[in-house]
Amino acid sequence: MSVANHDALPADRFDVAAVRAQFPVLADDGPGRTLTYLDSAATAQKPQAVIDALEDFYTREYASVHRGVYALSVRSTQRFEAVREKVCRLLHTSDPREVVFTRGTTEAINLVATSWGGQNVSAGDEIVVTQLEHHSNIVPWQLLCERTGARLRVAPIGLDGCVEVDAFEALLGPRTKLVALAHVSNALGTRLPVAALCQLARSRGITSLVDGAQAVPHGSVDVLAIGCDFYAFSAHKVFGPTGTGVLWGRRDLLDAMPPYQGGGSMIRSVSFEGTTYADAPQRFEAGTPDVAGVIGMGAALDWLEEIDREAAAAFECELLRYASEALEAIPGLHIFGSDPEKVGVLSFSLDCAHPHDIATILDREGVAIRAGHHCAQPLMKFYGVPAMARASLALYSDRSDIDALVSALETTREIFS
Ligand code: PLP
Repeated sequence: MSVANHDALPADRFDVAAVRAQFPVLADDGPGRTLTYLDSAATAQKPQAVIDALEDFYTREYASVHRGVYALSVRSTQRFEAVREKVCRLLHTSDPREVVFTRGTTEAINLVATSWGGQNVSAGDEIVVTQLEHHSNIVPWQLLCERTGARLRVAPIGLDGCVEVDAFEALLGPRTKLVALAHVSNALGTRLPVAALCQLARSRGITSLVDGAQAVPHGSVDVLAIGCDFYAFSAHKVFGPTGTGVLWGRRDLLDAMPPYQGGGSMIRSVSFEGTTYADAPQRFEAGTPDVAGVIGMGAALDWLEEIDREAAAAFECELLRYASEALEAIPGLHIFGSDPEKVGVLSFSLDCAHPHDIATILDREGVAIRAGHHCAQPLMKFYGVPAMARASLALYSDRSDIDALVSALETTREIFS
């Protein structure tokens, strides 16, 4: 965990060994059994605190939420609802009614596209995304465009993987209804200047959504300072369980939006003559929620609160520099994206091997990386490649991971050359 020596440089304040020790899957299990996990952008490993919280909830505290009057259900409801406040602390905001629990980032974006989009977007309107978006922040808008006759516009990036701000601004016009932007690119690690981009939108009365799936794991997020209208993230990328996530939305917007799905929990009263709906956020949470998942997310956020995020980010920055230098020294290796503000994502190609072959050989060496299009096919097209190999870092990554990666890449080169 963090070391309380505030005179030390931020990166030196971060005790990575203490953090790593809390992740059972990373334990040194002896020769040939140690995992070098470099796929944290896909999903993060879980600390013991989260595993224990899930086990404890299912063992001792399990009950459905909101409907039971018995003590177990009341306790479960209180713990469930308390997670909205933890999310508020994470996002530096204060109103738990602005926190909608979803299955993850994907569902959060689909919710906005269906509910807000259905109400506010019509034929001839425009939605602006960027070239580097994850499919989750492209396809829901394409579906909305198909339904409404609106048009998707794409803000370009440079070869460095950074959004061209002037070109983005030039796309904003009287028909632009929404801009939907990644906070951090999952494929390149680029950190978008979302506060500036959302300000450009807001000054023209355009609504903004930020896909925070890759930003929340890598540093502090302040949605009010960003000035966005919606912010989405997934619990599983931030050390929590799969199947849960959050849509944060400005209260006036959520209050004005129609339901996304119908069912139990989202209603005020139901009759065959007509149904009335609960207020936000319950209006958007039809059906029995993933109670354990939300409580596990709460445990992950509690765990994260104990981390000195400034020190962790500084440590990651140094580790990324170490990794970049080591990879660049490998003949024939090319790294995609060179944003100076980028987070710990290294997508690369090796001129002697296809990314899938690289990942397969690395796996044999105990190194888990991702190869493929990273759910960003338009970005692959931009770089003219079918796939990239990607090593991605999290709070528990250290130099031993990078050294293992480099050594396994040397083995790959020997095999293929
Ligand atoms: N957006 C980005 C930038 C992502 O990296 C991901 C997942 O990789 C998503 C959205 C989708 O997240 P989920 O699959 O958890 O809904």
